[in-house]
Amino acid sequence: MTGHKVKIETVVQSLLLWFAGNARDLPWRRTRDPYAIWVSEIMLQQTQVKTVIPYWERWMQALPTIAAAAAAPADQIHKLWEGLGYYTRVRNLQKAAQVIVAQHGGTFPEDYESVLALPGIGRYTAGAICSIAFNQPTPILDGNVIRVLTRLFAIAENPKDKTTNARLWHLAEQLVSEAAISPPRAPRPAPRASFLNQSLMELGALICTPRQPQCLLCPVRAGCEAFRQQRTEELPNLGARVASTARAFQAFVVEVRGQVLVRQRPAGMVNAHLWEFPNVETTGHQPDPVVVFQTVFGVKPPILEPLGVVKHSITRYRITLTAHQTGLGRRPPKMEGQWVKWESLGELAFTAAHKRLAKAAMERERRAGR
Ligand code: SF4
Repeated sequence: MTGHKVKIETVVQSLLLWFAGNARDLPWRRTRDPYAIWVSEIMLQQTQVKTVIPYWERWMQALPTIAAAAAAPADQIHKLWEGLGYYTRVRNLQKAAQVIVAQHGGTFPEDYESVLALPGIGRYTAGAICSIAFNQPTPILDGNVIRVLTRLFAIAENPKDKTTNARLWHLAEQLVSEAAISPPRAPRPAPRASFLNQSLMELGALICTPRQPQCLLCPVRAGCEAFRQQRTEELPNLGARVASTARAFQAFVVEVRGQVLVRQRPAGMVNAHLWEFPNVETTGHQPDPVVVFQTVFGVKPPILEPLGVVKHSITRYRITLTAHQTGLGRRPPKMEGQWVKWESLGELAFTAAHKRLAKAAMERERRAGR
């Protein structure tokens, strides 16, 4: 038996034992329903567990079946996703639900290739659903797993390089295949492929963290090359980060006779279909908001009250959004969007930044007793 095979076997047994005693009790871990697991996996992309829990619970209550997700109005799915960001995820989730209804009679497919063919489901998510819901030995490789594997095997090359990435997928496959076939030492009856993949995710989230990993608590420390060589801090080697760019925008909350102007972001752009207040990019200038307002609406505002500044990041952009509020006697000549009542603002799915503006504006209205 080669040293590598022994190491794979030892790592698998240690991870399964550790997971059996240390797994967090997460709501999607109490079910084997592939739909519920799929929703959790899509929400967990780019988002932390503690943020996802209430979203997942609301979603599963509102849309408990694939058929319900397929038939839900676009406004409802966006509202249920509001604040999670990366909205392409939820649109693809609905498209995939519609494909499952049309092509699989509303039952989530069990074979890996059919799962992988669904919109918004890549190799990682297909592997996660097939292993967690159906206990198939399908590998997973995401940021957490990459970190664990590059450290365990002291892989110093950039995990995004094609050859290294293929090597990591192969290791992930060896681990989950070993879990499926090896004689169990972990408590029975454990769905071993499922638990092995979840143990890798869990180890990366709780112990083998990006900074200051808890090696002394780690169940696979004895076989970890990075620990042995004291190189945990330098792995994984993620290469140089792309520099971010600063951009500035000005937004306006404009009220006319109890109604506020909002608009929906068009298809094909970031945050498509979500709502926002009228705004323009002012990067590179320090423009007077009155002048900007006149340019956007074709009328001079009687007064512009500062509403707040929201700083956030989208992809590689650091965005500063400065907002003002005003009331006009009549609708401005230049405008695009829809007028809605103050009390209806809460029903719209806003982008995260504009949701904060909406809350601030509504709070100001409430305090003013208008
Ligand atoms: S020993 Fe440390 S670096 Fe190695 S897998 Fe465990 S936590 Fe990660």
